[in-house]
Amino acid sequence: MFESRLLPHWLGECGRAVEALVFPWECSVCADPAAGAPFCPGCRRELLDASPSPCERCGLPMGPFADHTNGCYACRGRPLGFDRAIALGPYQGPIRDLCLRLKHEPNAWLAPWLVDVLLESNPLLRDLPSGTCVVPIPLHWRRYWERGYNQADALANALARRLRVRRLWPLKRVEPTPPLVTLARTERLRIMHDAFRVKSSASATLKGRTILLVDDILTTGATCGAAARALKRAGAARVIAVVIGRAEGKA
Ligand SMILES: [Zn+2]
Ligand SMILES: [Zn+2]
Repeated sequence: MFESRLLPHWLGECGRAVEALVFPWECSVCADPAAGAPFCPGCRRELLDASPSPCERCGLPMGPFADHTNGCYACRGRPLGFDRAIALGPYQGPIRDLCLRLKHEPNAWLAPWLVDVLLESNPLLRDLPSGTCVVPIPLHWRRYWERGYNQADALANALARRLRVRRLWPLKRVEPTPPLVTLARTERLRIMHDAFRVKSSASATLKGRTILLVDDILTTGATCGAAARALKRAGAARVIAVVIGRAEGKA
């Protein structure tokens, strides 16, 4: 008996098969031919190995012999807001290019493929407590209205689907923030501190849960940190920041 819930999956598979015949795949990284996927085997391997020994606290890629007991040089002794961060790899080379492409809605189809590689490279994401939920970092509604798309949503949707867990939108961004990269750390933290609120209707759902907080890039950690603090104030037990690119910026 054909299960109706499998129908969308089946149609998706058929669609992809037809598409592969009409538009042969090429690798999104090196442009070589790729068989039914946006990464050729070599580039996929490089993505999987992009961050072999990251800091377990802030996700910063480290050398194999670096000491990251209780964090690394960038995060040790600093309160982060989240409990740990997981990144596919450093925000450079192909990962940077893929993150930049994902910022544009026509490339949202890349999100599930990036999430697949991220899941394969991080066993921790396959061993989560029951009740774990996925939460994207939201844009301010005005920015969302201008763009009509948030790449963090695309990644969060793909992650929730792959892990078969709930995706929630408990956060709202209180005010549009200016680009943070140019600001000094103290100024960034001051601006970000109250940047997120949890919708009152969401608090009961968050209580005691592990939250995978999803964004495309983590640089200073100020954005994910502020969102994680808001989630914890609302009762979340543990917040793991999950990103594609970890940029070299002090957490
Ligand atoms: Zn390739
Ligand atoms: Zn660290």
